[in-house]
Amino acid sequence: MNNSIITFETSTEVKNSSVHGKGLFVNGNISEDEIIMVIKGDVINGIECERREENENNVYIFWNGDDIFIDVSSTDKIKYINHDCNPNCYVDENDASSLFLVASRNIKAGEELTMDYGYEEIYDSCNCYTCRKEAG
Ligand SMILES: [Zn+2]
Repeated sequence: MNNSIITFETSTEVKNSSVHGKGLFVNGNISEDEIIMVIKGDVINGIECERREENENNVYIFWNGDDIFIDVSSTDKIKYINHDCNPNCYVDENDASSLFLVASRNIKAGEELTMDYGYEEIYDSCNCYTCRKEAG
């Protein structure tokens, strides 16, 4: 881990999604394991995370190991990423105050980016691309 400046050639944009509300889309082709963006936000601890989830219905909090959580609800892009049970992105560690969003497979320009939210409730009534395909 270092603090060198990383630039990403592929830009992303927020557009209407057929999964849910708005979604995050890429404007260019991305290769497997390529870093798409740095996930940054309010760095908070577990107690504050629980408070925001319960009192503010905040569903935009990423876990960053130990007692570190990143609240991205005030950001303009990553908060719009939708869940998929077979996602094309995953979250990887960067440093104490940020994470990386990484491509888990090759992604074509214009595709919607998705990740596995990883909390139980999401699977109860999942409406992601993968589950809809399986349901026919
Ligand atoms: Zn699903």
